Amino acid sequence: MTSDYRNLPSVDRLLAHQEIGRLLQDYSRNSVLTLVRRSLEQARSSISNGATAPSSDQIVEGLVAQAKALWSPSPRPVINATGVVLHTNLGRAPLSNEAVEAMRQAALTYTDLELDLEDGKRGSRQAQVQQLLCQLTGAEAALVVNNNAAAVLLGLVALAEGREVIVSRGEAVEIGGGFRVPDVLRQSGATLVEVGTTNRTYARDYAAAVSDHTAAFLRVHPSNFQVTGFTHAATTPELAELGRTHGTPVLYDLGSGCLLNTERFGLSHEPTPQEAVEDGADLVFFSGDKLLGGPQAGIVVGKEKLVQQLARHPLARAVRIDKMSLAALSATLLHYVKGDVLEAVPIWRMISSTVDEIMQRADVWRDRLGADAIVVEGESTVGGGSLPGETLPTRLVALPSAHVDQLALSLRQQSPPVIGRIESGSLHLDPRTVLPEQDEPLIQAVLAASVGAFN
Ligand SMILES: *Cc1c(COP(=O)(O)O)cnc(C)c1O
Repeated sequence: MTSDYRNLPSVDRLLAHQEIGRLLQDYSRNSVLTLVRRSLEQARSSISNGATAPSSDQIVEGLVAQAKALWSPSPRPVINATGVVLHTNLGRAPLSNEAVEAMRQAALTYTDLELDLEDGKRGSRQAQVQQLLCQLTGAEAALVVNNNAAAVLLGLVALAEGREVIVSRGEAVEIGGGFRVPDVLRQSGATLVEVGTTNRTYARDYAAAVSDHTAAFLRVHPSNFQVTGFTHAATTPELAELGRTHGTPVLYDLGSGCLLNTERFGLSHEPTPQEAVEDGADLVFFSGDKLLGGPQAGIVVGKEKLVQQLARHPLARAVRIDKMSLAALSATLLHYVKGDVLEAVPIWRMISSTVDEIMQRADVWRDRLGADAIVVEGESTVGGGSLPGETLPTRLVALPSAHVDQLALSLRQQSPPVIGRIESGSLHLDPRTVLPEQDEPLIQAVLAASVGAFN
């Protein structure tokens, strides 16, 4: 045992190793030293657990691998061939070139973020985006924060703390990623009053629950699931009517915030912020990086008086949007103003791709990938808490393999990594969600991965 500790190389001997010398060219001596000391610490601890001392070369190999994993920029770009357009684990919506450029400029130079260039005084960072949002949704006022979870929390804290919020039992849902309606309500200091049943809730259920303690009615888009069959939900106009009678605001968490009519693309209807406003919802909440196709952001549109209440609440400062997201959001909204969303905003280019266009790309991929690859019919999904259960017909390149898990792993280890979908013993790659400029890197990655894992 003791001799095993003595077999460990010294810090100085490790620092003199050729491979470590190479690390020292790229990273500071302090960083490398910390890593070396930590490796020796780990080696000592495994020796104390009965392991034999690792050789210098083994330690160095581990060190180099750790440095590579720890000290590479993150997150890394990956190719999304899953066919899920809004994949939360893959960062939701990729941005338009204009949005990326706007972010770059906001990051690279000083901006008039909070300066009014006319009078040289302090301005609002939100003024321009607020106007665009009002124009696009028909709302009186708008407010933008860090994400939609923050927007909903801010809305509830500002309007309902210490009072009751009435929610349909079928909408007291968990969206995923830790967002559960009952928990958010509890955090806000409001009390959840559930009405109706899981499958059927009527306006009269809300009416019966109204009391002196009622602060708001809350509607929530169920996002990731569907109740089908014998179902009923109160409509926004019904709740708005009820709200007017009782002086109770209607808050509507739409989740995705889709500004376009999804039926044009063969999908079912996704409720839009404009409709919610038109239907009389007092505040409408949605994300920037779901079907809007922009950066992470939480957007609130609705009645001026209520939006002001949110904007003035101390919590608003804590959930403030950053300048780069704001720049990207502004550029994204401008696509809607210009009317070039389907060409410019990547997720809408993907959703509006025709089967013919996808088939052409799939055929090219198959021809390049060789004998085993085939093109099959399949389905893409929108994801991101919108249009649950809805799919878009697509064509997939299927890579049959006896070791499909290994092939998937090998693809994830390429640079850039390729993420596919395993289905019935094949690895499926969906061109719909692959950016056109990634076609060639994808083909190269599959060819490289296949050498190890194909068949
Ligand atoms: C996605 C979603 C949220 C959370 O939005 P983030 O922008 O991810 O914070 C909240 N509510 C609903 C209904 C959602 O679908």
